Amino acid sequence: MEVVLDKANQYHQLPNGKFRRLAVDSEYIHRMQRRHFLLFDLLPLIGVAAAVVLAFYRPIGVMEFSLFAALWLATGLGITAGYHRLFAHQAFQTSTAVRVLLTIMGSMSGRGSMISWAAMHRRHHEVADKPGDMHSPNLHGTGLVNRVRGFIHAHYTWMLRHEYPNVAHYAPDLLRDKWLVWASRHYYGWVLLGLAIPTVIGGLVTMSWWGALTGFLWGGAARMFVVEQAMSALNSILHTIGTRRFKLDENSRNNVILGVLAWGEGWHNNHHAFPNSASFALRWFSIDLGYWFIRLLALFGLAWDVRVPGRDQITARAAKLEARHAGGQEAG
Ligand SMILES: [Zn+2]
Ligand SMILES: [Zn+2]
Repeated sequence: MEVVLDKANQYHQLPNGKFRRLAVDSEYIHRMQRRHFLLFDLLPLIGVAAAVVLAFYRPIGVMEFSLFAALWLATGLGITAGYHRLFAHQAFQTSTAVRVLLTIMGSMSGRGSMISWAAMHRRHHEVADKPGDMHSPNLHGTGLVNRVRGFIHAHYTWMLRHEYPNVAHYAPDLLRDKWLVWASRHYYGWVLLGLAIPTVIGGLVTMSWWGALTGFLWGGAARMFVVEQAMSALNSILHTIGTRRFKLDENSRNNVILGVLAWGEGWHNNHHAFPNSASFALRWFSIDLGYWFIRLLALFGLAWDVRVPGRDQITARAAKLEARHAGGQEAG
């Protein structure tokens, strides 16, 4: 069903002619957003500083590095394969157990509860770089100062105060799944679990409180900070700088470095062109950890109906958008 939006993208017209509000604003919600920002965006930064200072005092070893890498991968795959490709875009199907597991893995990254994230992200696609896009870097005017302001907003400060999407409108499918509602509701518990795991392992491996502390700092705080930066870069960098394989009417971009560092999320322009594709790279030789993980699940029979557009479809879409873009430029 085509969504009919009003000019400011605030309302959706229902078939009976009435309007439904698409996002809400309230002081209570903003207070929650500020608290979340403090806990999961500012505190990890302090954790990183502590981790680095302590590393001068006693250098880190294989244990800290392994915990950091393992949790970076697990939580990153939870976000990209779970939150993003599966829940927000239904790019593949899987069992209830895997759905719950991916929700837990994604939650541990501290990027918000799954259903809220998916609803916000679906709204982002609907109004990308237009009024209503909560984290566009392109709505703050022209000129260097405004561009920088937009970039900081998209990367960081939008999280302090933003509209909250109407979840009943954007994610009715997710709300119907009682297991997903359960897993999503226990978000804060999963974040704590994600911090407890490296702390306990660090303590047990070294049989020391010091090991528990460095496990927490590297596998917990520093890992959370790095994952957060990668996800924020999608909003800021990947709607500003990079290549445009598909000339869409918004400003999404591809960037090979973030393709690698953000589990395949760096192919953001490809993703905006084919949002329901499980593959973001759309080329077999491009690195896309999220897609490789879905393929691995499929190999073991744990994922099916994996959606990827055919090569003809991709070429035709690129050519059509290119022609429209060239026509638009002539007209303009
Ligand atoms: Zn985007
Ligand atoms: Zn998306």
